[in-house]
Amino acid sequence: MGPSEGIERFDSPGKGRGMRALRHFALGELLFTCPAYTCVLTTNERGNHCDHCFNRKEGLSKCGKCKLAFYCNVECQKGDWPMHKLECSAMCAYGEKWNPSETVRLTARILAKQKTCKERTPSERFLTVKEFESHFSKLDNEKKELIQNDIAALHHFYSKNLHYSDNASLEFLFAQVNCNGFTIEDEELSHLGSAIFPDVALMNHSCCPNVIVTYRGTVAEVRAVQEINPGDEVFTSYIDLLYPTADRNDRLKDSYFFSCDCRECSTKEKDAAKLETRKLNDPPNPKDVRDMVKYARGVVEEFRRAKHFKSPSELLEMCELSMEKMGTLFAETNVYMLHMTYQAMGICLYMQDWEGALKYGEKIIQPYRKHYSPYSLNVASMWLKLGRLYMGLEKTTSGIKALKKALAIMEIAHGPDHPYIAEIKKEMEQ
Ligand SMILES: [Zn+2]
Ligand SMILES: [Zn+2]
Ligand SMILES: [Zn+2]
Repeated sequence: MGPSEGIERFDSPGKGRGMRALRHFALGELLFTCPAYTCVLTTNERGNHCDHCFNRKEGLSKCGKCKLAFYCNVECQKGDWPMHKLECSAMCAYGEKWNPSETVRLTARILAKQKTCKERTPSERFLTVKEFESHFSKLDNEKKELIQNDIAALHHFYSKNLHYSDNASLEFLFAQVNCNGFTIEDEELSHLGSAIFPDVALMNHSCCPNVIVTYRGTVAEVRAVQEINPGDEVFTSYIDLLYPTADRNDRLKDSYFFSCDCRECSTKEKDAAKLETRKLNDPPNPKDVRDMVKYARGVVEEFRRAKHFKSPSELLEMCELSMEKMGTLFAETNVYMLHMTYQAMGICLYMQDWEGALKYGEKIIQPYRKHYSPYSLNVASMWLKLGRLYMGLEKTTSGIKALKKALAIMEIAHGPDHPYIAEIKKEMEQ
């Protein structure tokens, strides 16, 4: 029997339903896999990845009609048609004006799938899409308004191809997608698309998770990153674990409507290091620190919004200015400094300023290793970016060293036979 034999659904005290191990799992062992119930490739990656299987390769063939979807071969094109037909002619008709959000695109696919497929799918062995939590009663007016905008877009762009249920059931479905949808990322954590993985959504959250979810095409794979014993609950992380306890819980409350009670959240063990201040002659005034944290959280939010309309050089300046200001009080290892350093690195990569990206990346990697757990995709992807930058700049010794560090984590998190690992090994030989 398959690896699903080792896990079961159970009622987790205080958490509602959850997943539990029935046997021992060693570090790096696969607990289960879950094919996407449905998924959608992000528009930015069109032409780089197959719209159907998410395979990354050159020379994909275009959909002859819209010329906007790309496939490995005829099988992938045929396989994707039940989903692609929701968009193909609408994209032609609307042209530049076709702009539904990825959530709307994903939800349209769920509706189409529910229409044609009435039985339980292989993605729903432990939890069905119908059973998804919606937290609908907890939504504030702002969230409800966003959902109404999504429903309007769904009607606008998909009405020719979908027959909808009433507004109330659509509201409920969008609320379910908002707290149960996944994003698929590549090995450098670049966004590839959105998907529904019902069985993966069964797992509860912890800031010290014992499993990690990675993707092989459109299949989610769940591996142990800590030893798991029979009877242990299986926990994944829903959020980026870089930030201090208060920030993590704000995020969890805002997106998933709960506060975490994991070991990390009760001991707040790592918070002091995450909020590290500079070594000055006099210890900093606590009020100054609180004010700077407030400023930092504001800047993080402001930058997130500015990404949609500012130019790369304006954004880079925003990073530099905020780091200069925070740097009067915060150490370079402080997570708010790291957040802006990471953003600056991203802009350099986007502008193909490899030296600039490397300069920022070198500042990030050691503090990342301290703040994140040993098998973290954030750490692995940072080693990988650094390794690839070094190799590109012909600093081969440093490159190999960094790629080896990435591989050591990925062999546990992705499994030693993952195609990403073969690709990286090939890069090391060149
Ligand atoms: Zn394909
Ligand atoms: Zn098409
Ligand atoms: Zn926690």
